[in-house]
Amino acid sequence: MQIDLRSDTVTRPSKGMLDAMMTAKVGDDVYAEDPTVNALEARVATLFGKPKALFFPSGTMANQTAIKLHTQPGEQLICDKYAHVYNYEGGGVSFNSGVSCQLVDGHRGMMTAAQVEAAINPPDFYHSPLTSLVTLENTTNKGGGACWDFNEISKIRTVCDTHHLGLHLDGARLWNALNAKSETALQYGDIFDTISVCFSKGLGAPVGSMLVGDEALMNKALRIRKMLGGGMRQIGSLAAAASYALDHHYDRLKDDHKKAKEIAVVLQTLEAVSIVEPVETNIVIFKLNSNFPEGLFLDNLKAHNVLVSDMGSGKLRMVTHLDYTDAMHANLLEILSKP
Ligand SMILES: *Cc1c(COP(=O)(O)O)cnc(C)c1O
Repeated sequence: MQIDLRSDTVTRPSKGMLDAMMTAKVGDDVYAEDPTVNALEARVATLFGKPKALFFPSGTMANQTAIKLHTQPGEQLICDKYAHVYNYEGGGVSFNSGVSCQLVDGHRGMMTAAQVEAAINPPDFYHSPLTSLVTLENTTNKGGGACWDFNEISKIRTVCDTHHLGLHLDGARLWNALNAKSETALQYGDIFDTISVCFSKGLGAPVGSMLVGDEALMNKALRIRKMLGGGMRQIGSLAAAASYALDHHYDRLKDDHKKAKEIAVVLQTLEAVSIVEPVETNIVIFKLNSNFPEGLFLDNLKAHNVLVSDMGSGKLRMVTHLDYTDAMHANLLEILSKP
């Protein structure tokens, strides 16, 4: 049995999801005539209390569109040094928007309002790029699935208001944060100008992200999505998968979180492991003990067909998900305990 913990994107659509996809009503979404896409967009907009939502083929395209909405070439956005938009979107920030990133040295991918305020370039000092956007990420990917303190987000909103900056949330795993912290999408919709969410991570759909925002911003987003090549046609079957995922796979995220915590408990007892970062959601990041032969630990995983991600700087990552079954979990805990 292969145990694939590289990412929560490795899931395959279930029978129920495939049935929903096969029976979905479809139309040409570039003409806004796909009823299943329209229904999902309306549903997600309502969930966040925003006037409009737009379906995207990837979270990257949704984030890149948001950045383009809030900035002009030559300007600068503020994000944590771990941010996905900076590290994992192929340099799209500079390619698509001509924007640079002011990186903040936060904690597990999260910044304080004071750090954000200190990172703003004075707008009348024309030598430096004009700061126009702050981008946050919840949960943080490179930060090990950590969840923000909502209070700090509120303070950052105040900083953005004072300095006339846009505020975007990369919420690829916001579902996990909402589930873990018993927060609501409405709270987030109320604070952010734009939010991207993914259906292809913990929710287990094969494709799809959504960007939410106000009417004027989302009308612009429609044009940017087209420019980036993200206008799609009969994609109701993809929206049906996302809708099925919202119906059936949101509550169960807590199972992923529970399993991730149990993995962390076992890792902590191992001689091979030096540090396990605190686990709040479905991501476990840990470091191997430099006195312990790294090969021994990794060979044991490989021998048992366990796949994990290398995050660089000696960090390894395991991500629990829908297709990581109870049987795999029991098996993994045993493999870890008995090398
Ligand atoms: C996965 C992810 C995205 C979007 O990735 P795509 O693969 O383009 O859908 C964006 N932000 C974070 C934090 C992610 O983990």
